[in-house]
Amino acid sequence: MGFADDIIIRRRVDARRFKELDNNKCMLCGAVGQDMRSFIVSALYNLAEVIDEMIDLNEVEGDLKGRGWYLRTCKTCRGKLLTALGETADSCRENRKFKVGSDGEVITMKVKLSRETGEYVEEINETKD
Ligand SMILES: [Zn+2]
Repeated sequence: MGFADDIIIRRRVDARRFKELDNNKCMLCGAVGQDMRSFIVSALYNLAEVIDEMIDLNEVEGDLKGRGWYLRTCKTCRGKLLTALGETADSCRENRKFKVGSDGEVITMKVKLSRETGEYVEEINETKD
């Protein structure tokens, strides 16, 4: 069985998981209550590799079909996910101090940015690590 078959099977299983979801239950910690929210991510990436509980919305029925990946979370888990996103974004912004390639990888040299425009002006002989 190939990679494409795995995706087809995963999507069918996820469509069934989505149908059977308890909307009042957090998919991460198992908390039960009224304040559960939907966390939807679309990133052209198999997000089950990051968070196994996430549901691929490709084959589900209804308005969310094809919208990406789904997670039903409580307030605490949602807060932790959003905090992690914010911290990751902060870490990514740190790379603005360096020259980066098209994939965002740091190209060792620290750069000097113009105070006026914020644009790159010159490389400084200092490595990141
Ligand atoms: Zn939770």
